Formats: sequence, structure tokens, C-alpha cells
Amino acid sequence: SLDNILTWREEKRSNDKEEGKDLTGGGGLSEKVSLYKGDITVLEVDAIVNAANSSLLGGGGVDGCIHKAAGSCLYDECHSLNGCETGNAKITCGYDLPARYVIHTVGPVARGHVGPTETSDLTACYENSLRLMKEHGLKTVAFPCISTGIYGFPNEPAAGIALKTVKNWIKENPDEITRVIFCVFLDNDFSIYKKKMSAIFEDN
Ligand code: ADP
Repeated sequence: SLDNILTWREEKRSNDKEEGKDLTGGGGLSEKVSLYKGDITVLEVDAIVNAANSSLLGGGGVDGCIHKAAGSCLYDECHSLNGCETGNAKITCGYDLPARYVIHTVGPVARGHVGPTETSDLTACYENSLRLMKEHGLKTVAFPCISTGIYGFPNEPAAGIALKTVKNWIKENPDEITRVIFCVFLDNDFSIYKKKMSAIFEDN
């Protein structure tokens, strides 16, 4: 369950202890985010986010893993949704997943290029997913690294967009979400997120 996943604040605290440093105050935002490396389909959260394609009918990467783990009822519900535009998000049940819901969002096809459109579309994926969380009264969510696989959004700027967008949203909606898990799958993304989370969530 979620009890096994440290918040960013807790992780910081145990590192500080090891290094014999004083524990500084803080709390707030860093108590609502976690960095987790592994398969998103095992997470027991209110909702996991799927990096879907516009058909919402499944595909490779994390999308394929989610459909495989959720079972064919997920495909049937997705089939009834008439697809989804880039940057937007739609919600379904989680079926055989431990997560109660799946939020399907369609990231931009970047193919290595980061311009204003790619940036605003990726930002919209995170914002629209969080908006659906709020509308459905859901409190815990896990995001994969949207668009950074088959869709080719460069990992470093994608992580920056993910972290800043979530941070701003939590700040503006302090009573909504209690935990956001950044679920990375690759070693490279793990180190990128680790570095950026220190800069973005420290002392907050
Ligand atoms: P996109 O088409 O949006 O680029 P991909 O699924 O190709 O989506 O990749 C998005 C990210 O999801 C990549 O970092 C990929 O390594 C990661 N990923 C693949 N399988 C899983 C999984 N089971 N759990 C979490 N992340 C995953």
C-alpha cells in the first residue's frame, strides 16, 4: 500500500539523519509528493494516469501494461469514450487494477522537439488529470513520464513540466490531493526527477 512509499519529505529526513544534519522545518508541498521507480500498475492509489493515444484503445508502453493488468473491461469502457484530444484527459474505472480509477491523458507527439505547443500540451495533460481528480473527489494519484517514451518528448524538460505543473496545482488547491506519486520506469528518469525534486520541493 501507500504506507510503503516515502514522501519526498520523509526521504529527505532520513537522508539528513544519516548525514548527521539537523532536521530543518518545512513540510507542506514536500509531504504530498513521492518519487517511485517501477511498474505503475501495482500502485494502490485512487487513480493512476495512463499515457494513452488519442484513440484510447490501447497501445505499447505504459498504455499496454495498464490495459493488460486492468483486463478487457477497461478496453470496453475506453471504446465507449470516442477518443481523447491531445492535452485532454478522460476517466474510467480501474477494473482488475489495485487503483480504483484510470485517468487517460494524451500527451503530445514531440519526436525530440520542444516548442510552445508541445510544452502547453504536456502541461495541459497534468492539469486536466488533476482537474478530474478534484471533480471526482480523488486524493491519491500516480503519474508516469507522459510523452517521454514512444512520443519522444525529451526527458529533462518533460520532468520539469511535470514537477512544476503539479507543484503549482497543489499550491492552488491545498485541500484536494494528498499524494502525487511520480512513477518513473527508467534509471535516467529516476536521476532526473531526483535532482529536480530537490530543487523544486525542498523547503516547501
Ligand atoms: P508515450 O507514448 O506517452 O511516450 P510510453 O508508454 O511510450 O508513452 O512511455 C511513457 C513512459 O512510461 C516511459 O518512461 C516508459 O518507460 C514508461 N513506462 C513503460 N511501462 C511502464 C509501466 N508499467 N509503469 C510505469 N511506467 C512505464
